[in-house]
Amino acid sequence: MTAGPVLPMGVFPLSPPLPQPSPVPRPILATIHPEALRHNLDRVRRSALQSRVWAVVKANAYGHGIERVFDALRGADGFALIDLAEAERVRALGWRGPVLLLEGVFEPRDLELCSRLNLWHAVHCDEQIDWLAAHKTQVPHRVFLKMNSGMNRLGFTPDRLRTAWTRLSALPQVDEVSLMMHFSDADGAKGIEAAMRDFERVTQDLPGERSLANSAATLRHADATRADWVRAGIVLYGGAPDYPEHDSAHWQLQPTMTLSTRLIGIQHLQPGDTVGYGSRFTAEVPMRIGVAAVGYADGYPRHAPNGTPVLVDGVRTRVVGRVSMDMVTVDLTPVPGAGFGSEVTLWGRAARGTVLPIDEVAHPAGTIGYELMCAVAPRVPVVVEGAAGAPGGV
Ligand SMILES: *Cc1c(COP(=O)(O)O)cnc(C)c1O
Repeated sequence: MTAGPVLPMGVFPLSPPLPQPSPVPRPILATIHPEALRHNLDRVRRSALQSRVWAVVKANAYGHGIERVFDALRGADGFALIDLAEAERVRALGWRGPVLLLEGVFEPRDLELCSRLNLWHAVHCDEQIDWLAAHKTQVPHRVFLKMNSGMNRLGFTPDRLRTAWTRLSALPQVDEVSLMMHFSDADGAKGIEAAMRDFERVTQDLPGERSLANSAATLRHADATRADWVRAGIVLYGGAPDYPEHDSAHWQLQPTMTLSTRLIGIQHLQPGDTVGYGSRFTAEVPMRIGVAAVGYADGYPRHAPNGTPVLVDGVRTRVVGRVSMDMVTVDLTPVPGAGFGSEVTLWGRAARGTVLPIDEVAHPAGTIGYELMCAVAPRVPVVVEGAAGAPGGV
């Protein structure tokens, strides 16, 4: 998510916290909450007292903007991400601590950047070991050898892990070999026991640091946090990793992003009147609806059904009618005082303090909070709460 298209000339859209661009094209706004990021990082630490914490900032910090979250998350022990350009941005912010490439390098020349920026990188396949063996470097690399524990995306299967370890640790290009794995089912009924058993069996006599847990494992499986590092992503951004089994309140997480807009129109419906494309909603009683300036082109999910929760002036109500490109229609029945210009909160925290967790919007729309955060569109202006030019705190 970058700032909207109305930045002053010469302002690089990824530069640190931007005040709201002026003139503002529409009332839509995403607000990042640094205090909530700090709180959530603290929450992770309380669940992983024995571990260091990787703050996972891939996908531009889950759509929040790396530069916008950096200050609040600099209390983490390292930053983990996927994209080498994002690693450069973390270094450009002055971070000298660990940076981990979760998928390792994508081509041999990436190793030069790893050497130059001192990036630690995952090694998940033989090709990456071949590239390291051919890499010329003064300083040996810190690598995280990845075991495939059943997800079957990246990593060496348990029966191939030791061969890879032996090959890797014999290379002069390699300093310390650490070990990592990524659970497929830390959030669900299958759990992590089988993966943990395989990992222990194969690695018990190997030296090196371990990194096992993602957010779900960190919160749900104390076993997985008894490792050197946990990798916390969605929890930092206030999403419950196992919604709807548990919600963010259960895990004591706070929303780190608010997507808000205003009502730009009011309609009075009579019984039988319909709303929006395809007449997906029909009024059964006389009612007022509000038209909010947000649509799927802003990243609001088009698949949000009738009844998807939304806040108007901090009061919970529902979406009625199909989401269109630039507009969403909402029932004003529970908010008789609302009218033209009223605040609409799509997710996050309303000015009154009411919270609408992103998971409660994502779930009825058939997706997860992760996707909604990452999908906020470039045309949405972003402010950091408390930063110069940003609206005051609540
Ligand atoms: C994205 C990612 C994480 C973080 O996952 P969350 O569910 O957001 O905590 C951890 N480890 C790896 C390898 C990842 O790719």
